[in-house]
Amino acid sequence: MLNITGWAEEELKHTLKELADLKFALDASSIVAITDRRGIIKFVNEKFCEISQYTTEELLGQDHRIINSGYHPPDFFKMMWKTISKGEIWRGEIRNQAKDGTFYWVDTTIVPFLDDEGKPYQYVSIRSDITKRKQAEEDLKMTMKQLADLKYAIEESSIVAITDRQGTIQYVNDRFCMISKYSREELIGQDHRIINSGQHSKEFFRDLWKTIGQGKVWKGEIQNRAKDGAYYWVDTIIVPFLNEQGKPYQYVSIRSDITERKMSEELLRNSERLTIVSQLAAGVAHEIRNPLTALKRIVRMLGGKNNLYDATEYFPLILSELDRIEFIMNEYLMLAKPQVVKFAEKRVSYMLESIVKLLTVHASMNSIRVVTELDPDLTIINCDENQLKQVFINLIKNAFEAMPNGGKLLIQAQQPDPDHILVRFVDEGVGIPEEVLAKLGEPFFTTKEKGTGLGLMVSFRIVESHHGTLTFKSQSGQGTTAEILLPVANR
Ligand code: ADP
Ligand code: MG
Repeated sequence: MLNITGWAEEELKHTLKELADLKFALDASSIVAITDRRGIIKFVNEKFCEISQYTTEELLGQDHRIINSGYHPPDFFKMMWKTISKGEIWRGEIRNQAKDGTFYWVDTTIVPFLDDEGKPYQYVSIRSDITKRKQAEEDLKMTMKQLADLKYAIEESSIVAITDRQGTIQYVNDRFCMISKYSREELIGQDHRIINSGQHSKEFFRDLWKTIGQGKVWKGEIQNRAKDGAYYWVDTIIVPFLNEQGKPYQYVSIRSDITERKMSEELLRNSERLTIVSQLAAGVAHEIRNPLTALKRIVRMLGGKNNLYDATEYFPLILSELDRIEFIMNEYLMLAKPQVVKFAEKRVSYMLESIVKLLTVHASMNSIRVVTELDPDLTIINCDENQLKQVFINLIKNAFEAMPNGGKLLIQAQQPDPDHILVRFVDEGVGIPEEVLAKLGEPFFTTKEKGTGLGLMVSFRIVESHHGTLTFKSQSGQGTTAEILLPVANR
């Protein structure tokens, strides 16, 4: 001791101070524990107690099994002991369990302290809390897994395609190939025109592109054509994927095959239509008999032995009677003809006028006065004329049947706003009680002895396929108002 110079003493003091500072910094920042060579805890700092929720007294003399969470396999700790007992530093991420049973993750470094023979005599472990990061990692893993599951479910259940912004096909799944009967190679690089059936109007696709181009989801039913020429129907959702500027960079379409449903709907619509046709037959026969009788009378008169009349004077009358017959026959045959769905630009008021003409005999036979208020300036809409006529006939027939003792049927067509056309049928009939109102449109629901209960069901379907609505307002004994609201820009 006598040899120690003042300088060395200073140096030692300085080193000790530095060590104390370092220990303070370590204590404040990290979870620290010291164990002996068998792993018995000899020291823990405050942070260790804080995170493990044990007191110093509870921890000293224990080994680390007290905070073991059971998460890591035994090999994990075996490897750790193998490393540190050789005198090497071990690093790893450990999940521990606090006293209250909750788990926490620590990034752990264990430093062996070696004796003169190079054997560890104690281990100092320095840890930091990484629970939050681990939790985020777990959440991410979970989300990724859920996403993968979701993708799998969609791929398995649906017809999927991805196109770029221009509509060029980048990806199709097996189901897409199966239903379109094209191979993947034939589809990729093409656009969807390859399966275009030509059954939808230009506006239909213009509207589709406008919607998705604005980043909005498009939903609709599309008829496509497979490689072998067969038609199929798909219920389609197209989802735009947006870049950081909010602009679509690709489109994912998810479709399901609804060909069968479409076919059975068509069958039903057709059989309902044929019912109407046969029910109208009697009226049409009457309707034709009147002009025929008139014609016969004229011809007999002009062909008479002592004819003094100038035949040419009668030509306009003859022609107009013939026109009437032709019109009725045409309307009737159009209804009777088997039909394909055909959307075209049509004027609703014209359609209503021709139907009213067709039904005048029906009306007068039932002492019903039909009054029309049709706005002649209605916007032309894209629709299936025959289908909408079927709806109009159904509603008019129902109105007639609701007025067995006669009355007035008011038919209005107007444009409440630029985007919609409203067609209204107001009768003075028996009305519809509330409990019946709720059942309208159910298949086979009828309150009539000879009813089919299919008219309204088919009508609802047709209006729906025009993206419109059909609603009824009525009260028992107060008459009924049926309203069809059709969008002008419909598909
Ligand atoms: P159907 O005419 O063959 O009975 P619909 O589907 O056309 O079948 O109509 C179903 C039912 O709805 C009718 O039986 C009737 O009870 C009721 N209904 C429909 N329209 C009217 C109406 N304008 N007035 C009163 N009841 C109506
Ligand atoms: Mg009916």
